[in-house]
Amino acid sequence: MTTAGQVIRCKAAVAWESGKPLSIEDVEVAPPQKDEVRIKILFTSLCHTDVYFWDAKGQDPLFPRILGHEAGGIVESVGEGVTDLQPGDHVLPIFTGECKECRHCLSEESNMCDLLRINTDRGTMIHDGKSRFSINGKPIYHFLGTSTFSEYTVVHVGQVAKINPSAPLDKVCVLSCGISTGFGATVNVAKPKKGQSVAVFGLGAVGLAAAEGARVSGASRIIGVDLNPNRFEEAKKFGVTEFVNPKDHNKPVQEVIAEMTGGGVDRSVECTGSIQAMISAFECVHDGWGVAVLVGVPNKDDAFKTHPMNLLNERTLKGTFFGNYKPRSDIPAVVEQYMNNELELDKFITHSIPFSEINKAFEYMLRGEGLRCMIRMDA
Ligand code: NAD
Ligand code: ZN
Repeated sequence: MTTAGQVIRCKAAVAWESGKPLSIEDVEVAPPQKDEVRIKILFTSLCHTDVYFWDAKGQDPLFPRILGHEAGGIVESVGEGVTDLQPGDHVLPIFTGECKECRHCLSEESNMCDLLRINTDRGTMIHDGKSRFSINGKPIYHFLGTSTFSEYTVVHVGQVAKINPSAPLDKVCVLSCGISTGFGATVNVAKPKKGQSVAVFGLGAVGLAAAEGARVSGASRIIGVDLNPNRFEEAKKFGVTEFVNPKDHNKPVQEVIAEMTGGGVDRSVECTGSIQAMISAFECVHDGWGVAVLVGVPNKDDAFKTHPMNLLNERTLKGTFFGNYKPRSDIPAVVEQYMNNELELDKFITHSIPFSEINKAFEYMLRGEGLRCMIRMDA
C-alpha cells in the first residue's frame, strides 16, 4: 500500500515554547508539493543550532516548531517536477540548499544559493508559504526547511543530497550538518598548507571536525581552545596537539596564542558561536598571511569589533556556512570519502538514544557532554 499523495500521521517532537522539553505528538504530514520530497527519517542528531533556536535567547522565536536538521533518511514520495530523486533513494536533508540555477549555484566559489540559502526565520515551505505539518488542522512551523525531529518530513528537492545507498545512515547522518561544516571550513576555506599551525576555537563536534580537516591537511600544530576543560581529553583523538583554556589566563587568549607561536597561528577556525571567541580567533592569526574562518552562529545583536589595523596588517577574515560545500553537488563525494576511510565519523558519535528520549540529547549538549547524540527514529 502506497502512502504517496496522502497525508501521513506519524510521531514528531514538537517544540511548543522556548526552552521547554520537546513533546512527542501525533502530527499530520501533508504530501510533497511542487519541487518537494517527503522523507522517512531514520536517524537524526542534535546540533547546537537546534538548541539555539529552541532556547531562542537572542533569536527571533517561532513556535510551535519542529526542529532538527542533521539527519539521514529514505525518500517516501516526490512532488510534481522532481526528476532527480525517487522513492527509495537514500538521502541527507541539508539546512542550506542548491537550486543549481542561480548565480551562486553557477559560481564555483559560492554555496549561498539565492533561493534556498539558510533562513532561520522562515517556518513554512517556499512554494506556497504554508507548513506541511499540522496537529488537528493547526499548523506547526518548519525549521531550516528540514524539521528532522519527525518520522516523516517534507523538504525542498534543492535541500536533499542523494547518497550511496550502502552508506550507513546512522553514521553519515552527521555529514548532514556539523561534520561537513567543520571539516569543510578547514579544507575548503581556511586551506592550511602542509606544516602550518591551526587554532580551533570550540571543541564540540563542529570544531573537532575542523581539527580533523587540519590533520588531513598535514597541519604541524593544532591548538584547541575551549572554556570547558572536559573537551580536551576527547580532542586528543582528533589530532589536537595543544590546549588553551581562556579561563586559565589573565590576558586575552589571542595574546597567549601569539606567544605560543611566535606571532600567531597561520590559520584559525572559530566554532563556538561566541562573539568574543570570534574576535580572538581573528586576532590570533599571524600578520602578513594569517586567515581566520568564522563558523559559529552568533546572537542576533552581536557586532564584530576589531581595530582595522588588524586587517591592514594583512590578516584575512572569512566566514562560511556548511563548510562551503554545495549540498547536492559535493556531499555525495564526502560520503564516499567516509566509505573509503579517508575521513572518520564514528568517533564523533558518542551517544545513541531512541526518539522517545530526544530530550536527553538536549541535556547532553547543554551539559557539554559528548559530541553527537544519534537519535534512532525506529525505537
Ligand atoms: P558545541 O556546543 O558542541 O561546541 C561548542 C564549543 O564551544 C563548546 O565546547 C563550548 O565550551 C565552546 N565555547 C563556547 N564559548 C567559547 C569561548 N568563548 N571560547 C572558547 N570556547 C568556547 O556546538 P557545535 O554543535 O560543535 O557547534 C558549534 C557552532 O557552530 C555553533 O555556534 C553552531 O551553531 C555553529 N554551526 C554553524 C554552522 C555553519 O554552517 N556556519 C553549521 C553548524 C553549526
Ligand atoms: Zn541557487
